Amino acid sequence: MSTSSTIVWFRQDLRLADNPALLRAAESGSVVPVYVWSPEEEGDWAPGGAGKWWLHRSLESLDGSLREIGSRLVVRRGDSLQQLRAIAEETGAERVFWNRRYEPQAIERDKQIKASLAEDGLGVESFNAALLHEPWTVATQQGQPYKVFTPYWRACLKQDIRREPLSKPKTLDAPGSWPKSVELDSLALNPKIAWDAGLAETWDVGEAAAMKRLRAFAKRGMADYGDERNRMDHDGVSMLSPYLHWGELSPRQAFAAADKLREKDPGAADGVKVFLSEIGWREFSYHLMYHFPTVVDQPLREEFTRFEWDDDREALKRWQRGQTGFPVVDAAMRQLYATGWMHNRARMIVASFLTKDLLIPWQRGAEWFWDTLVDADLASNTQGWQWTAGCGADASPFFRVFNPVSQSEKFDPQGDYIRRWVPELGGLDRPHIFQPHEAPPGVLRAAGVELGKDYPLPMVDHGEARKRALDVYQSMKN
Ligand code: FAD
Repeated sequence: MSTSSTIVWFRQDLRLADNPALLRAAESGSVVPVYVWSPEEEGDWAPGGAGKWWLHRSLESLDGSLREIGSRLVVRRGDSLQQLRAIAEETGAERVFWNRRYEPQAIERDKQIKASLAEDGLGVESFNAALLHEPWTVATQQGQPYKVFTPYWRACLKQDIRREPLSKPKTLDAPGSWPKSVELDSLALNPKIAWDAGLAETWDVGEAAAMKRLRAFAKRGMADYGDERNRMDHDGVSMLSPYLHWGELSPRQAFAAADKLREKDPGAADGVKVFLSEIGWREFSYHLMYHFPTVVDQPLREEFTRFEWDDDREALKRWQRGQTGFPVVDAAMRQLYATGWMHNRARMIVASFLTKDLLIPWQRGAEWFWDTLVDADLASNTQGWQWTAGCGADASPFFRVFNPVSQSEKFDPQGDYIRRWVPELGGLDRPHIFQPHEAPPGVLRAAGVELGKDYPLPMVDHGEARKRALDVYQSMKN
């Protein structure tokens, strides 16, 4: 075996298994696994508070896994190109491998780094580890990118792609000498004030935890996913999103687990199909971001640049703090702040509330999600917000305004989700828990709720707000 070294530049692929850059490097000689913290290179989208919390633990976990196979993670901070060059000099590495990213700012940066390292005489190779279908591999018959999900996913499913995940290297040869590495703590990824207790209670971070969650979901949740996925009060979804975002799990591994379940239990086929189509939405989000890179802060549907939003900062704060007076919205926003995650149905409800009931620009909501979600992902977050606001590809039409009360009645029928996250309403039964401002005074008194004191009155009248939103939409169209 050759003794020459390859630097593996880890980014959003923080795992050993199904990691093509790592496996290829391991096959070529010794390996220098590297992570460079360079938030300045992420433009407006450096990881937010919850993302940094996750990243700290993920890097710790990756280092632990590497040590188990005779290696370690070299952590650096600063300009990525300079750091990679310095590490190549310190170790005499001859190659730099990485797995591709698709965010517009990362593509630009990576292109420049690739060219510069190649000029230095290093071998540079990048691989696909994050997607089943890279954005340029799927096109309409006219050779155009897709803007509608169903034909996009149908085209994806027709492609004959590698399904089997790669195995993890059993050992990694160490370089002749290890380059300098900074302490993880020096990156200051952990919060300065301790708001993260709920995150720590909710999540085990890292590749092993990802696999454990995937297996548990395949065993207990995937078969019923089609029916259960909308229930905010049940554990019917996988909660795999942060692992997929940080690359502790690959979509291929998720696909393989789903395929295996389908083979073993044909009765699970419907649930598996729906689950895989959600992985498809993740792929579609990357397809859109790659082909229409301005979507990260501009509406895809151009007419929405004329939409008259109402950028009310006080109202935004009430939404962020879960003090809108609409219990399901408040439950969801508090779940987000406490755990760094929110149920998909709840994401749609709060996003509709922000953009339609309050007419606040979707970008403000996307920014808050960016800071507070452990799975904050530029492609999926952008797509989710544009979809709900009605200005994206294959979006929910603007006139579809989610009614927070009927959404709770349908997807949290006993009010348990609200009771969990808005404990001050815990004494109310259904239907009053869905809209306490409609409850008779005696009911509120018996439940120990004084509206305006223990829990806010609704900040808008939903019926009027809906009408206002539709009027603004109409004038945009005119
Ligand atoms: P499951 O229901 O178990 O689905 C499995 C996987 O499929 C998810 O982990 C995720 O990777 C993918 N997926 C599911 N639904 C979607 C979807 N609608 N779009 C794209 N991928 C999907 N997802 C993120 O990963 N990061 C975000 O920043 C993000 N922001 C969102 C913002 C809004 C306003 C909305 C409406 C949705 C957003 N989503 C985002 C999509 C979706 O809500 C989450 O992926 C999902 O709730 C994560 O929970 P889960 O892992 O249990 O999903």
